[in-house]
Amino acid sequence: MSTPDTLGQASGGAPLAAVAVVVARDGRLPHGADEAVAEAGGAAVVVGSGAQVGAAALAGARHVWWSDTGDGLRPGALAGALSPLLEGVPMVVMPASPDGRDLAPRLAAAGGRHLVARAVRAEVVADDHPDGAPVVRATVSRLDDRVVVPVDVDGPAVVTLVPCGRSVAPATTAPLVEHLPLALPPAGPADSQNRAGGPPDTILDPQVVAILEPDLHTMDLADATRVLAGGAGLVPGADDRHAAAAFDLLVQVAAALGGSAGATRVATDAGWIGYERQIGTTGVTIDPDLYIAFGVSGAAQHVGGFGAPSHIVSVNTDASSPMTAMADLGLVTDARELLAELARRLGVVVPAAASGGGPPPADHRTEAARG
Ligand SMILES: Cc1cc2nc3c(=O)[nH]c(=O)nc-3n(C[C@H](O)[C@H](O)[C@H](O)COP(=O)(O)OP(=O)(O)OC[C@H]3O[C@@H](n4cnc5c(N)ncnc54)[C@H](O)[C@@H]3O)c2cc1C
Repeated sequence: MSTPDTLGQASGGAPLAAVAVVVARDGRLPHGADEAVAEAGGAAVVVGSGAQVGAAALAGARHVWWSDTGDGLRPGALAGALSPLLEGVPMVVMPASPDGRDLAPRLAAAGGRHLVARAVRAEVVADDHPDGAPVVRATVSRLDDRVVVPVDVDGPAVVTLVPCGRSVAPATTAPLVEHLPLALPPAGPADSQNRAGGPPDTILDPQVVAILEPDLHTMDLADATRVLAGGAGLVPGADDRHAAAAFDLLVQVAAALGGSAGATRVATDAGWIGYERQIGTTGVTIDPDLYIAFGVSGAAQHVGGFGAPSHIVSVNTDASSPMTAMADLGLVTDARELLAELARRLGVVVPAAASGGGPPPADHRTEAARG
């Protein structure tokens, strides 16, 4: 199959107002991929490793092209290969994932497009410009999501879209999925790419030396597939020092389980864990496969940010808490005790401060009273 000149041509000549570009890693789509495709009206190009698997997993897509461009993202080479295909498409939408943020500016530079970063919504409006040229109208999020600002740009743009936990309805008909052969120049060190004959202004890529797995202790919560979240019930009655130690233990246990730690606003406001770990409507939106809540009540502002995890476990002393009601498995017990026991079984050292500083759990109080 030969590469079409443009995606407009590949789609049977119908002009495309918008296309989503999504980078897959080993077939896994980044957080916010479905939202980006929905914002683009259902047309998408999936690149990266395992692109075919990723293309098949997109919800709400109408027409998907995929090209497996192998391990290790080469954003410059990819931008050069994709840009001509996107000619005539006013708006290119990308999830504001790490790979999306890497590729978007290069794609904008390669195609002479505007770059609109961190939008929460975007659309193409045809009539607003005096020449009738398309205008890309976006709302961008700024100051740590505390303000949203309307932005209009005349002419084609690349827009990175912040995942907001919008629900995307699955397509009612199966999408048209097509292979898109993309010719990337051979990988190599930047200076040899230059010698290989690219014009002087060729966008050069760094040489991929190794691909490292993310550090689970610090990785972006939005990308975690397993999240252990702590709420006020993880540390009832504890002072700040002991509470912070318990949340630090949560981070270690989460990492031992191949996951990342999150928290409720009560915990981040108290300073027991960083704000970047807050899940919810005024925090991060996540989309894990597994979510384990330790002492989390399940307030609407919290669960509004956690997508649709395949498995939810709630550890809570209140069997009727909303979190336990929505969980697949509810464990009615003291959260900090269970966390410490889990830590011991996983070989994670439990510092004394992580289990002290508050009233003993109810069962122990009963024991002590009997004694
Ligand atoms: C405008 C606005 C925006 C907000 N945005 C967010 C947001 O983005 N994210 C967010 O999380 N919140 C947000 N909130 C706050 C939210 O409304 C809740 O107050 C918060 O999520 C509750 O946190 P929590 O579950 O840790 O605490 P609590 O509601 O106090 O719940 C504690 C839970 O722990 C249980 N518990 C008690 N003791 C134990 C024990 N020993 N072992 C086990 N379980 C125990 C209790 O039964 C209870 O269910 C927002 C609020 C407002 C007004």
